[in-house]
Amino acid sequence: MTVRTRIAPSPTGEDLHIGNVYTALVNFVFARKNGGKFIVRIEDTDRSRLVKGSEKKILASLRWLGLDYDEGPDKKGPFSPYRQSERLPLYRKYVDRLVDTDKAYYCFCTEERLAEMRRVQVKKGKLPVYDKFCRQLEKNQAKQRAKGEKHVVRLKVPEKGRTSFNDLIRGEISFENRLLDDQVLLKSDGFPTYHLAVVVDDHLMKVSHVIRAEEWISSTPKHILLYRAFRWELPQFAHGPVLRNPDRSKLSKRKNPVWLSWYRKEGYFSEAILNYLALMGWSFPGGRDVFTLEEMITEFKLEDLKPVGPAFDLKKLEWLNGEYIRKSQNSKLKSRIMDFYQNELPEDIVEKSVPLIRERIKKLSDYLPLTEFLFKRPQNYELDLKSYRQLLADISAKLHGLASWQADKIGEAMVELARDKQLKNSEFFMVLRVAVSGKKISPPLNESLEILGKKEAVYRCQNF
Ligand code: GLU
Repeated sequence: MTVRTRIAPSPTGEDLHIGNVYTALVNFVFARKNGGKFIVRIEDTDRSRLVKGSEKKILASLRWLGLDYDEGPDKKGPFSPYRQSERLPLYRKYVDRLVDTDKAYYCFCTEERLAEMRRVQVKKGKLPVYDKFCRQLEKNQAKQRAKGEKHVVRLKVPEKGRTSFNDLIRGEISFENRLLDDQVLLKSDGFPTYHLAVVVDDHLMKVSHVIRAEEWISSTPKHILLYRAFRWELPQFAHGPVLRNPDRSKLSKRKNPVWLSWYRKEGYFSEAILNYLALMGWSFPGGRDVFTLEEMITEFKLEDLKPVGPAFDLKKLEWLNGEYIRKSQNSKLKSRIMDFYQNELPEDIVEKSVPLIRERIKKLSDYLPLTEFLFKRPQNYELDLKSYRQLLADISAKLHGLASWQADKIGEAMVELARDKQLKNSEFFMVLRVAVSGKKISPPLNESLEILGKKEAVYRCQNF
């Protein structure tokens, strides 16, 4: 069997949801590990929730992450189109087949009737499920009516028995059929529901492993009933953990940033994001925290995925990203910073500053706040320098007189001056630091002065 996995994002948000990034990672790694294919299918059948531009961002984000897919809406593939809205005639054809074989039926119930039915059910403390009113209609009559009347098509869920499956992560999962709704398969607008479309497409696209988050478990029995109704072979199912807030609730916009675009804007590395997500339900053999995607592919086993992961912890991701920054070569880090700031910073200064800040930043957006004074004169000073006018005049004279403008030489001269002035190094350098950078905390001062150049350093000591 060829392993074929997929993600099936709906273009209903700002970008790829971080939970989808996690699902994509697991599907990608599992496919690569097994020499299989990883597919992206866009599930855009819920027309009311579509967000313009979302699909484009989702695909661009997958590429940015390096989770390159083998087949997808913008790639040729043997099972195109990979966008559900372009596959409508297919769903119609398959749903007709279900009606013909008595596995599904037309339903003409109006919104008003359904609302009233639900109201009564809820009032009686019952679960709101369809009361199967149209299930009893005579088949040929219903078929006639469907030609002119607004309708949906529903799945005829068996009234007895159980639907069970063996989840590759969770083991046997079983549902009582009588608790399952006669699910709508085709909506009155002619669009399929998620349930119909996902089964038809996973089958036609020869998906071997459906790997998705826990939240889809309750849909799986409906899907299995559909596979059986079509007499199709079942794929393997695996439901991984859902990303959670520290209070165990599902990761939500209120408590954590959920769109990948936020993480990009903050300057997280794609490698660090994937490495962090990998730890959400899996551990590297030996318990290592930092590993590459390639290493993960080598070691990964789907059975090792835990059904519940640790809470999503932004602080830990930040720490991990810092590790990636420290691991980067200076030249690579320079390019990343240049890219991140859209090549608007002078490259020579960025290059010189990288060794000074590489230990101090955790993400790329930390870079500019720390180094801004290298690019422009401070606008504010964290210390009132009025009473240090004379000292700063002496400093600037000493700097001016230096024969060689190198960090160590600058440092020696400044220590000498502090001694002459009988000032503690801490006070002396604080004054100089604030005059030059505006801030009490900055990257190493002597090196920063070297980068600024003599003229600018002297200027800042005189004009603050
Ligand atoms: N369209 C669903 C989603 O938005 C796909 C769920 C599945 O993987 O079956 O995630």
